Parts: sequence; C-alpha cells; structure tokens
Amino acid sequence: MRNEDDTTPQEHRDDAAVSAPDTEADAPVTDPTETEAEAPQGAATAAGLSSPDAVGEQAVEHAADQDGDRTEDPDAEAAAQPAATEPETVAGIGAHDAAAAVAPAPRDDASAPTLGDVLVAIEELWPASLAEDWDAVGLVAGRLEQVIRRVVFAVDPTREVVRDAIERGADLLITHHPLLLRGVKSVAADQFKGGAIHDLIENHCALVTVHTNGDSAVGGVSDVLADILGLQNVSPLVPAAEGLPEEGIGRVGTLPDALALGDFASRVFGALPAVAGGVRVAGDRDGIVRTVAVCGGAGDSLFDAVREARADVFVTADLRHHPASEAREAAIEDRPYLVDISHFAGEWLWLPVAAEGLYNVLVDQGFAVEIGVSSINSDPWDFILTPGH
Ligand SMILES: [Zn+2]
Repeated sequence: MRNEDDTTPQEHRDDAAVSAPDTEADAPVTDPTETEAEAPQGAATAAGLSSPDAVGEQAVEHAADQDGDRTEDPDAEAAAQPAATEPETVAGIGAHDAAAAVAPAPRDDASAPTLGDVLVAIEELWPASLAEDWDAVGLVAGRLEQVIRRVVFAVDPTREVVRDAIERGADLLITHHPLLLRGVKSVAADQFKGGAIHDLIENHCALVTVHTNGDSAVGGVSDVLADILGLQNVSPLVPAAEGLPEEGIGRVGTLPDALALGDFASRVFGALPAVAGGVRVAGDRDGIVRTVAVCGGAGDSLFDAVREARADVFVTADLRHHPASEAREAAIEDRPYLVDISHFAGEWLWLPVAAEGLYNVLVDQGFAVEIGVSSINSDPWDFILTPGH
C-alpha cells in the first residue's frame, strides 16, 4: 500500500476473494533450484512469478481466441487448471486463475476498449476518491482514444517491468506503485523514470497507477492477504473517510482455529511468492494467535489501530527498527506479535485478483481484452545471510 515513502501515512489494503485458504496455506513453496531454469528472471524470480504461463498467460488472458468463444479454445481449457499442473505457482494464484478462466467469454462482436473505456472500468473498481491525499493515482501516460487490446498488471513500474510489458505487446501497463509520486522536473530519457516514460510512449503503451485506491477498495491488497490467510469476519483496520464500511486501510479478522505463531508464520510464508528476505517474526513461536491484522505494503503507521483491534499478530511489510521495537515494548501480554513480509510479495498477491476484476468488468460491458500479470520479481533484495546459514 503506501509505498516506499517514509513520509507518507499509510499503505495498502485491498481485498478480493482469492482461493481457499487451506489450499493456499498448504501449497508447497517452489524450490528455486527447480524452477530457475525456466524462470525468466532466474533465481531472483519469485515462486509463482517464475511461471508466467501460470500467472499472466493462463489466468487472465482470456479473450485471446479470435472467434470470441474462449470456452472452445483448448488452450483456454488447459489454462483453467494451473493450480494442479503448476506446483511452483504461488499458493492462491492458481485457484484464482481457474476462477478467471470461467469468466464470461466476450461476445462474438466484442471489440477492444479504448483507454478511456478502461479508465471508466478502473474508476468503477478502484475509485480515485479512495486514494490517500499524498498519493498519485490514475493515468500517467497515454491517449484516451488509444485502443487497448492487452493489459499487464505489475507491482512496480521498473524499467525491467516496462520493457517486459512492451515485449508482451501490452497497450496498457497498470502498476500498483506510482512511477511519478513526487515533483518531476524532467523526463529525460537518460534518467530511469524518464527512460521508462520514453519506453512507454515510444511503444504506444499507456501507464496507469492503482495505488492506495486499490488498497482501500474491496478486493484490495489487504483483503487478498486476509482471504489467503483464511481470516473470517474481516473489516478495515482504519475505515475509509469516504466510502463503504468495508473500505479502508488494512484489515483485521479472525482465524477459524487458533494457531501457534510459528504455524501461522509458516502459513504466511507459504502463501507468498518466494523472495530473498523470507518472513521475519517477533514473538513467542508457541504463542497462540486468533485475531489477525494485516496491511499490505508498509503498515507501521497502523500500530494504534492494531492495538485497538486487539490483534494477536500484525502482518505487514517494511517494519523498521524503531516502530517495531517500540511496538514490542508496548505489547500487552506480548501482543501483538509481528510478522514482517516482503513489500513486493505481499502486494503481488493482489495482481491476479485485480486483473480478474478488470477483465470481468470489461467483458461484462461487451469488450474483448487480454489481461495478464507481470512475471517480473521487482523485490529489490537478492539474498540474505542469517545465523547458521
Ligand atoms: Zn506498496
């Protein structure tokens, strides 16, 4: 959610029904040594991301068949079973893809939407009014009349992500994090942000940001996290100032069965794409957790809300020393425990859900479009050293 900006208040949240928590939690995490060969990004590629077929091409590229009847396309049929055939797929994602594959097929006369049409659908799903004041969401580059046949979702608008989207023939790249959050005085191509802008425009690929509006909306990052972890009775940690009661920052809910903190952390680990930093935990491994607070992205501004919700554990990203240390000092009966996850990995889980949501809205409106998820791992960390390893 909030992004990498220490000065900004909160981060993300989102929701959306992902797959059954049990299957996600139990799904094996990919062994990078087994997937490295086929993973486009090598060992640094996150499990689940390592299989672009399982994510981008399978899940969400539905409208590919030219006669508009996807259900008769054997490739599309095959795409409906990634969970069973792609053990390296991130838990939860395969089931999502399967869900996406049963989305209504475009009409025979369906035509591709314009960028303006897609922006209307985006506003329907993730209203800009839900974005934080400091945020920069919406259209970054592109002409409204441009025809959009292929869309790619990604967490970060890095040069690698942009180039990959262009190579995949995307007319529109939708990223969670803004490319241009602060004041810009130049988009010169020899600077990385300006270079990305040039790459996009020169290749007729538009760029849209869905950031804290996507966090706050139903089906945002935190909703997806809550769902994947099996939480019930989920509500926002901080309700949106303007919006529905279920919209807002972070989520809190309860596990159907209490878990030891160590087992809960294993569930978190198993649900995420594999990244170098893994998962860090503060608290007694045998401590019992039932009430769980989550916040995709950097959520260390939410400790007051987490304590108010009486959460046993708080799952978020980018926990810095002082906020984490002070939260532990202020703990009541040692709660809340802390589970610190990769910012990228936590937010990446939202992408298939977002892609499916946008696809469904556009197809319901009679448009034909392909929507995929980037296979690029943009977590900045590559390896970690820990005692004993
Ligand atoms: Zn973020």
